[in-house]
Amino acid sequence: MQKKPFVTLSQVEEMTKTYPTPFHLYDEKAIRENARKVKAAFAWNKGFKEYFAVKATPNPRILQILKEEGFGADCSSYTELLMSDAVGLNGHNIMFSSNVTPAEDFELAAKLGAIINFDDITHIDFYEKIAPFQETMSCRFNPGGDFKIDNEIMDCPQEAKYGMTRPQLTEAFLKLKEKGVKHFGIHAFLASNTVANEYYPVLARILFETAVELQKETGVHIAFVNLSGGVGIPYRPDQKPNDIMAIGEGVRKAYEEVLVPAGMGDVAIYTELGRFILAPYGCLITKCVHQKHTHKEYIGCDACAANLMRPAMYGAYHHITVLGKEDAPCDHKYDVTGGLCENNDKFAIDRMLPEINIGDYLVIHDTGAHGFAMGYNYNGKLRSAEVLLKEDGSTELIRRAERPEDYFATLDVTGVFNK
Ligand SMILES: *Cc1c(COP(=O)(O)O)cnc(C)c1O
Repeated sequence: MQKKPFVTLSQVEEMTKTYPTPFHLYDEKAIRENARKVKAAFAWNKGFKEYFAVKATPNPRILQILKEEGFGADCSSYTELLMSDAVGLNGHNIMFSSNVTPAEDFELAAKLGAIINFDDITHIDFYEKIAPFQETMSCRFNPGGDFKIDNEIMDCPQEAKYGMTRPQLTEAFLKLKEKGVKHFGIHAFLASNTVANEYYPVLARILFETAVELQKETGVHIAFVNLSGGVGIPYRPDQKPNDIMAIGEGVRKAYEEVLVPAGMGDVAIYTELGRFILAPYGCLITKCVHQKHTHKEYIGCDACAANLMRPAMYGAYHHITVLGKEDAPCDHKYDVTGGLCENNDKFAIDRMLPEINIGDYLVIHDTGAHGFAMGYNYNGKLRSAEVLLKEDGSTELIRRAERPEDYFATLDVTGVFNK
């Protein structure tokens, strides 16, 4: 499938009059349409709620749009909690799925009335010293082993630091019951960026079966099953996108086969999708500022891995479109690079693209999740702006670009910089 950017050259030329490159751009219309599809896919479940994984795109304006679509926030840190609260997402609109959790994070989560999802059994005693137990609490499950779909290994939970073992889950539920907890949730995240409609249904069946067992063993009320994140997107043009309606239907089938016969037809389904909600609806707009002809052909961009870390960190593929040359033949082989003093600062290696000239705008696709969010300040590079392309075609600056004073803000530079 051809991957098309959601902006044209003329739109970007207009934008760059106000916002210099590089910047991350988000497509509000597409975000809302996709959010509505997710809700429709799970509309069969009365209690369904998506808690958007804030870490994917931690911007209050984005959270506000998702809130308007009825989503909550999945937080895992103090500042994510603050940001969610700032847009009016608090109480049971927050799922606090953290790990290695600091005391002050638990304290704030409890204060905001968030649903707390314990990553480890020892966190129960840790938490007890900080805040009172709430009526509804959740535990994260890690079944160990390999996670397989049709005998294909999707991921290795046995190697993952998250969650409790099966025996610990029973122990945790009994312990929490004793402390007065009334309603329980079960959560698991077993494979990341899956491009397979079966992921959620297979995971759901495991969690539903576990929920039935736990209910029998402990007698507690299981209020929800949280399927967490992991539904992926096609970063590569040859990948087939997930069909969220088919995914919702697959989960419904497991629900009706496992939970309903056990008399547990009131269990709510929660999700904590991040990537699926935002990734395709954001892109990084960057300009070619240099070209270099040495042992290879290099394109030098004004963006770098500090703006988008995934290629450097995981060797992740991000599709690139040269604006205005959408239909030109891809007959040039380039390494598309940023300016960090690290040789892994390459958005693409040996990528076939149309001929690129200095001044051309490049769209780096699918940066709406884990794009800006993973930004960092290595080499003193400053984080870029974030811009929202609104439904009416206008744009809104939803985060300004960093300035040198932001970079220096945590230092005491009195006397060093006042000339
Ligand atoms: C990262 C994360 C998510 C979101 O994962 P995606 O792959 O972006 O959907 C959800 N829940 C938890 C606990 C996470 O750490």
